[in-house]
Amino acid sequence: MIPVTKPFLPPQEEYNKHLQGIWKRNWLTNMGPLASELEMKLKEHLHVNHILFVTNGTVALQMAIKALDLKGEIITTPFSFVATTSSIVWEGCKPVFVDIDKDSLNIDASKIEKAITAKTSAILATHVYGNPCDVEVIEKIAKKHRIKVIYDGAHAFGVQVNGKSIFDYGDISICSLHATKLYHSVEGGLIITKDAPLLRKLAYMRNFGFNGPEAFAELGINGKNSEFHAAMGLVNLDYIQEIHKNRKKITERYDEKLRGYKAIKQLWHGNSEQNYAYYPIVVESEELLHKCIESLKLNEIFVRRYFYPSLSSILPYLESVEMPITEDIAKRVMCLPLFHDLTMEEIDLICRLLLRIQNN
Ligand SMILES: *Cc1c(COP(=O)(O)O)cnc(C)c1O
Repeated sequence: MIPVTKPFLPPQEEYNKHLQGIWKRNWLTNMGPLASELEMKLKEHLHVNHILFVTNGTVALQMAIKALDLKGEIITTPFSFVATTSSIVWEGCKPVFVDIDKDSLNIDASKIEKAITAKTSAILATHVYGNPCDVEVIEKIAKKHRIKVIYDGAHAFGVQVNGKSIFDYGDISICSLHATKLYHSVEGGLIITKDAPLLRKLAYMRNFGFNGPEAFAELGINGKNSEFHAAMGLVNLDYIQEIHKNRKKITERYDEKLRGYKAIKQLWHGNSEQNYAYYPIVVESEELLHKCIESLKLNEIFVRRYFYPSLSSILPYLESVEMPITEDIAKRVMCLPLFHDLTMEEIDLICRLLLRIQNN
């Protein structure tokens, strides 16, 4: 069986070493030494000034919206994981969808201004599959209209754009460290901002708003993460170069074997390098996509229609709106298996099957 993804697991002894320390200290959660160490190491690794390690990427999004005190309408993309949209609704705001660009698969920045109204308070855009949004254009629009920018960088761990971390853009960026992501701490999320007072506010929010044992600075939530999760994050960080190298090799093998294959690949930002988080392809028709999925399934190979369907037409708590480009892409896109120990033989088999279906 070849799944679409498989979490990376480091050698167990290395994780166990951290467990010994946890047992000795008897400090299990609440910003313990491992969580602090992880934040410090991630700051260094990602070249960012401020980082908070939190429960998960979804809570990170919710905290970001809350901390920026967003109200009214938030402009967002319908081509993302459901948490991007649901966080907006959860925080009592209204998502306003703007269609995507058919090449980058990110929100089409040239269509954002038309969607701005007097009620717009922010733009929440996803770096889809890790591909940087049109960050400079979005920044200009946000400045002009005095609105905030949040980036859902759940897929964008380690991505640099214009020579700096992708997480440096926007008022706040978030990342997910969920087990299925490129780099993970089993469950976990990151909040990144350049704004020190804003980070302080978020740090209070993460811990129920506590400011000392008997005082409160903010409205808060339980956004903390545990020492056990931090330990996994720390051990996995030692392997990040190896993970990256391997995923690059896998991606290049797919590229090579699918050279003659009629599918569209995402157009990556010109000033950025891939992090190899996903291998998405957009095939010619939905019918062909179904054939591919069925045929691969017969061979116990599982792909994922990531993201299908468009968030603009599937959520029971939102009215459907037409987003022609997103709907078209969502019907034809799939992510091929991509994980640390996927073998070259397995890739070759997947590609052979895909080519056979197309040529039939
Ligand atoms: C995974 C993901 C999230 C949610 O992250 P969790 O850590 O699972 O809560 C949010 N947005 C996108 C685009 C994602 O892929």
